[in-house]
Amino acid sequence: MLSKYKIQKVLAALEALYPDAKAELDFQDPFQLLVATVLSAQCTDVRVNLVTKELFPVIPTPADLMMMPVSKLETVIKPCGLYKSKAKNLHEAAKALVEVHNSQIPRDIETLMTLPGVGKKTANVVVSNAFGIPAIAVDTHVFRVSNRIGLAEAGTVEKTEEQLMANLPKSKWSKTHHMIIFHGRRVCKARKPACDTCTIAPWCEYYKSLTPKIPKKNVRGRKDE
Ligand code: SF4
Repeated sequence: MLSKYKIQKVLAALEALYPDAKAELDFQDPFQLLVATVLSAQCTDVRVNLVTKELFPVIPTPADLMMMPVSKLETVIKPCGLYKSKAKNLHEAAKALVEVHNSQIPRDIETLMTLPGVGKKTANVVVSNAFGIPAIAVDTHVFRVSNRIGLAEAGTVEKTEEQLMANLPKSKWSKTHHMIIFHGRRVCKARKPACDTCTIAPWCEYYKSLTPKIPKKNVRGRKDE
């Protein structure tokens, strides 16, 4: 795990790279963000944005989503994948929003997680992006990139979130979440991280592990055994 000093350096480098990092899902209100985030599981934000462009005008409120036949919802969201379970969850979540929450999106993580299809990651995304409450949603990019760099050193999503919350200033949780996702999509990709051109490399634990160790020389200039 990186030292506090190195973490500061990494954050400064990420801020220089991605000063405008933000959510890449399109939304106008907390309800739309909740729907888009549920749809984004195992789907690109670009594809979700294409689907929600069609979907949002016909479901302006949770009641409209509740009233939409599940079969029709399935057809509209099919391009996002996992459409049967996503349609079922969205439909049930809309029902719960109408019947239990007065059609309002809950502002706390625990209550959000009582909605069908809403896990910790989705709840974190909603509270931080819709309500400005500090949170770090650990998706596949945040998990991979933060553990490669050494902002966390954990084998699970839960531990990664805990360590990031402990290692990063609370005021920077949400912005750092977006910056790490930007870096994961553009540079530190899953299969082929572009380490040779990455400005985070001087502090990155993964990069360090790739760099061959240069043997120290003894006083006569011979390599140590
Ligand atoms: S140096 Fe490589 S592994 Fe480290 S953050 Fe950059 S691209 Fe990712």
